[in-house]
Amino acid sequence: MRMTEQRRVIAQVIEQSEDHPDVEELYRRASAIDPRISLSTVYRTMNLFEEAGLVTKHDFKDGRARFELIPDEHHDHLIDIRTGTVIEFRNEEIEAIQEVIARKLGYKLVDHRLELYAVPINKPDGADR
Ligand SMILES: [Zn+2]
Repeated sequence: MRMTEQRRVIAQVIEQSEDHPDVEELYRRASAIDPRISLSTVYRTMNLFEEAGLVTKHDFKDGRARFELIPDEHHDHLIDIRTGTVIEFRNEEIEAIQEVIARKLGYKLVDHRLELYAVPINKPDGADR
């Protein structure tokens, strides 16, 4: 892939993102660095980065694609459906049981995605004091 100056800025923005930004948010961050960058450039660049295997695209069911760098270590996501907050987690029991399920079905697991959609539990006053 040809790394133009604008693509380099967009790559830097996604590298520095610790959340799961959508294209509009990436555009806000990228255009703060280089105001010549357009929303459509960010859109096209993220699709190129995805095709090139640099980023992964998520659909957290709120109608906007979210991006993150392909992580070194696999993780899953919990989405707070009230606030849209995305929490990353990894659970070894879940990882193991998915492999068991695949094996029972005659397959070797190579990848999976798991998204938990949740609302916060209302704690009674003072419960966490
Ligand atoms: Zn993530």
